[in-house]
Amino acid sequence: GLSDRLQEVFKKLRGKGKISEEDVKLAMREVRLALLEADVNYKVTKSFVAAVSERAVGQEVLQSVTPGQQVVKIVYDEMTQLMGGSETKLTMSSKPPTVFMTVGLQGAGKTTTAAKLSRNLLKQGRRPLLVAADVYRPAAIKQLQVLGEQVGVPVFSMGQSNPVDIARASLEYARSNNRDIVIIDTAGRLHVNEELMAELLQIQKTVNPHETLLVVDAMTGQDAVNVAEAFNDQLSITGVILTKLDGDTRGGAALSVKAVTGCPIKLVGMGEKMDALETFYPERMASRILGMGDILSLVEKAQENFDEQKAREMEQKIRKQEFTLEDFLEQMQQVKSMGPLQDLLGMIPGMDKQLKGIEGQIDEKEILHVEAIIRSMTPEERRNPAILNGSRKKRIARGSGAKVQEVNRLVKQFEESRKVMKQFADMGGKKGKRGAFP
Ligand code: GDP
Ligand code: MG
Repeated sequence: GLSDRLQEVFKKLRGKGKISEEDVKLAMREVRLALLEADVNYKVTKSFVAAVSERAVGQEVLQSVTPGQQVVKIVYDEMTQLMGGSETKLTMSSKPPTVFMTVGLQGAGKTTTAAKLSRNLLKQGRRPLLVAADVYRPAAIKQLQVLGEQVGVPVFSMGQSNPVDIARASLEYARSNNRDIVIIDTAGRLHVNEELMAELLQIQKTVNPHETLLVVDAMTGQDAVNVAEAFNDQLSITGVILTKLDGDTRGGAALSVKAVTGCPIKLVGMGEKMDALETFYPERMASRILGMGDILSLVEKAQENFDEQKAREMEQKIRKQEFTLEDFLEQMQQVKSMGPLQDLLGMIPGMDKQLKGIEGQIDEKEILHVEAIIRSMTPEERRNPAILNGSRKKRIARGSGAKVQEVNRLVKQFEESRKVMKQFADMGGKKGKRGAFP
C-alpha cells in the first residue's frame, strides 16, 4: 500500500547528514508515484510534492532521528494540511430545526449514513427526524424505516409522492413535533445527471439546508473526487462524508477531496453498523495513510527535547574517536528524558547495539544496569577504559552490583561499537552507503 511504498522511500534517506536537493528529488519522485498509484488526483499530487520538497531541502537533520523520519514528519504535516488541518463540525442552527440533506450517487451510503448520523445526534441529546425523500424504489423507504427503528429515530415518509413536497412537509412536521434536526435522505442515480441535479436543487431551494452533505464512497478513489467536483459545482455542498473507509481503500479520495472541491471531509463511515460514523480528523488520516503513527510522535519528541548543539559535539567526538563512556552515559541521560526508551534508543547510533549486546534486547532495567556500571567508574576510567585491570573491574562490579563478566562485556561492546560508529561517521558524507547513521 501507500504506507509501505513511502516507508521504502524514506529508508533510502538514511545515512544522510543533511537532506540535499538531490536526495529530496529522488525521494519525491517515488512519493509522487506512490500517491498517483494510491489514486490521488494528479494536480494535488504535484502541488503536494512541491510543498514537501521546499520544506525538506536543506533541513539539518536532528541527530536523534533519521532524515527519513524527518521527511516523514514533513509529509505528515503537509498531508494534514491538505485534508483541511483539523476537524470540521457540522453547522447547527440556533433556530431549530436544523436541516441536513444527504446527496450522492446510488450505493454511496446516503441512507445508512443518514441513519448513523441521526443515531449520533440522538446520543448527544438531540431530537432528530429522518425524512424518506428517495421515492423511486419502495425498498428505499422501507430501508430507512428499518434503520430508523433500529436507532430509535422517527422516520417521516409520504410514500412515493414528490420529493420536494415531502421535504417541505417534513419541516412542518418537525416544527409541530418538536424535532430539532431534520435529516433528508434523497435519491441517487448511478451517474451524475441533470435530472438528479435538478431534483436535488429544488429540494435544496425549498428547505434551505444548513448542511448539504455529499456522501461518497472512498473505495472509488478518483471517481469519488470527480463526483464531489460535479456535485459541488451544482449544489455548493458544505461538507463531504467519506464512507467505506473500513475497506481496503488506497486513501486517494481522502487526500484529494478538500484540495479539489475546497470542501472539507466532515465525517467518515467506518463500517456497516449504525455506530460506525466518526468525525474526520485529518491528523489521524495522515498517520493512517503513512502507517507511521509512532515515528511521528517520536520525531516530535526528539525535536522538542534533543539538544542539537550537543548532538553535533557528540558527532565530532565520534569522528575523532574521542567518544567515551562518559559521553555514552550523557547520551543515555538525554535519551531517557525523552520518554519511552524502547522506541527512542534505537535511534541513537551504536546505543541499540550496545544495550542489545548485553541482554539481547533493550529494556529499561538493562539500561539502569549499564548506567550503574558506568557510574561506578572513575572519570579517568570512563575516558580510557583501557586502564581497566582486574582489580579495577572488581571494584566497579562491587560498586554497581554487577558481575565482573558484565563489566567486561560492557567495555568490550563499547570498544566495538565505537569502532563501528567511527566507520559510519567516516562514511557519512559518501553517497549510497546504506545503514550509515545520520
Ligand atoms: P445509498 O444508495 O447511497 O443510500 O447507499 P446505502 O446507504 O443503501 O448503502 C449502500 C451499501 O453500502 C449498504 O450495503 C451499506 O451497508 C454500505 N455502507 C454504507 N456505509 C458504509 C461504510 O462506512 N462501510 C461499509 N463497509 N459499508 C457501508
Ligand atoms: Mg439510499
